[in-house]
Amino acid sequence: MQTLSEPVAEICYGPMKSGKSRYLVQQAEDLSRQALSFLAFKPVQDTRDGSFIRSRDLDCRDVQALGVANSGELFLIVERALAAPVDFLADLPTSISGALGLRNTFRAESPLRACLIDEVFLLDGGLLAVIDKLQAAGVSVYLSGLDRDFRGEYFPLRHFERHGLTMRDLIQRCDRAFPLQAGCEVCTRPADLTQRLISGLPAPYDSPTVMIGDEEYEPRCHEHHIVLGKPSLSAAS
Ligand SMILES: [Zn+2]
Repeated sequence: MQTLSEPVAEICYGPMKSGKSRYLVQQAEDLSRQALSFLAFKPVQDTRDGSFIRSRDLDCRDVQALGVANSGELFLIVERALAAPVDFLADLPTSISGALGLRNTFRAESPLRACLIDEVFLLDGGLLAVIDKLQAAGVSVYLSGLDRDFRGEYFPLRHFERHGLTMRDLIQRCDRAFPLQAGCEVCTRPADLTQRLISGLPAPYDSPTVMIGDEEYEPRCHEHHIVLGKPSLSAAS
């Protein structure tokens, strides 16, 4: 007999290549094994894997996700899923073979129990209030994303100028937080920072927080994390 537990908010965070998406894929597999209804989301800005949450492990299934532009859109989708589950299921995109599809993970006949959200650092500060509302509606939230930007500073959530919220606030809001490390690509020691390289060279401090272009990212330890022109006052943040 399945016991109903309190809805939780969990986050898994760390640098590039630290297994954050694997955490979400494992949550999805667990929920699926328990036959619990859930939905997966990812920000539409993250075009890398299309509409899937994808672990780098070859033995993990892809998890089909709904793309959302912001936290408000995500909440509207969940509201509709709760209010009219049968119609909602009928409108979901077709599942792709080999992936854990939306039509398999959302169950119209049982209550929605969880939302999985990948790359949360690309969403806006409204997400914190959305998490409150989801938990109040009995829906657990499992999040994953980079905690720090290429400067080594906590990622400002979108529209930071309006709400002043960063990934640090989101992590503190969650009931459980799991920090992950990767291996530094220079020395192989534990890395909790992400290096941005533009044409192979460390990016300057004043380049934009989010770029989708020619730049590359790799995990680095503190010793090998280089930000050109970083003000010394921000080094402790
Ligand atoms: Zn290193």
